[in-house]
Amino acid sequence: MKKSAKPVVVILVVIAVLAAAFLLVWQFDVFGLFKDYKTVPEITLKGKTDIVLEGGTPFEEPGYTAKIGDLDATDKVEVDYKTVDTTKVGTYELNYTLSNLKGRHTVTQTRTIKVVDTTAPVITLKGDATVKIQIGSEYKDAGATAADKVDGDLTKTIKVDNRVNVNEKGKYTVTYTVKDAAGNEAKVTRNVIVSKQTAGSVVYLTFDDGPSFNTIKILDLLKKYDCHATFFIVGQNIPGNEDILKRMVKEGHTLAVHTYTHDYAAIYTSPEAFWADNKKTRDLIKKVTGVEAKCMRFPGGASNTISANYCSGIMSTLTSQCKDHGYEYYDWNISSGDANADGLPAAQLYDNIMAGIHENYESPIVLMHDTGAKGTTVTAVAKVLQVGLSEGYSFEAIDETVDPIHHAVNN
Ligand code: ZN
Repeated sequence: MKKSAKPVVVILVVIAVLAAAFLLVWQFDVFGLFKDYKTVPEITLKGKTDIVLEGGTPFEEPGYTAKIGDLDATDKVEVDYKTVDTTKVGTYELNYTLSNLKGRHTVTQTRTIKVVDTTAPVITLKGDATVKIQIGSEYKDAGATAADKVDGDLTKTIKVDNRVNVNEKGKYTVTYTVKDAAGNEAKVTRNVIVSKQTAGSVVYLTFDDGPSFNTIKILDLLKKYDCHATFFIVGQNIPGNEDILKRMVKEGHTLAVHTYTHDYAAIYTSPEAFWADNKKTRDLIKKVTGVEAKCMRFPGGASNTISANYCSGIMSTLTSQCKDHGYEYYDWNISSGDANADGLPAAQLYDNIMAGIHENYESPIVLMHDTGAKGTTVTAVAKVLQVGLSEGYSFEAIDETVDPIHHAVNN
């Protein structure tokens, strides 16, 4: 027994030594033999691991790096981008997975992507944003379409608030609202102007610089022919002529603001000076008649260059400020010529006006003056009304339903 036991012991010892050696080599991998088995991969995510993403915008990978031991293994990382659907609100987990070379260790890093919807849908009007129709005619709304980055086509859920009264002259608003699933609301409006105007058939006579005794004569003519006009008032002419203003309102004419002093050197020194002068007239008209003027005309027109003597660029500023002051400003496209001199022959003024009217502007706006020195203007107006009516024109007062004429600004 003792003799035969010896080789067995030797074998056992050898096995034990080999096992110990193997374990030692395995444990410390002194020769690097098991590197591929033993090295745990490392993934490093760049950027945030919690990402909030607006729905409908593509996910952009902030980047990552990976190593297995000293080896760069970035290109071996598997990322399943299909798990993230940025067109749907929700929270998604994006996994970055990497196994070492022999598949013994697999590591996963996770980014959380929260897709939210804070963007309102977009409403697109079909047809024009401003529609003009004639009184009494039918209004057919052209509708709108709506699209949301997350919810897609929302056209069918648009709510339309249509307040258009085709039987009453005015400026109406059609409002389109739509909400997406996340509750974001979009709103778009369309202006619908119901007017008496048909292209070229309505003439807008306008009188600047009054009132004066000639204004009364013009009002008499307008009354005689049942016509209406617009008066751009000079405020300093109001005291003593209050009854003329009241009559204008009573007889359906439009009172509009021209200026208080008409002194270019004073009003065009600064926007502040201009609006202070303008307000003085507007306030006085309101005080006398109770009417707040919504239309105005710049002394010299918006195209005047005289203002450049006092303030460079002031007309650009003033024209852009009108809306803020609650005004539309009206220049003209037909000039009677009565500003060129006092006492010009009425026939000449009449010819200028009728030639302009016959040019068929969409909004023929005629510039005239009703100061005391413009007696021949009154005579011309009488003939314009008489002949114009017989030719089928009508004469109306400007209001906010009338397209403005804007001259090119030169200062
Ligand atoms: Zn003037």
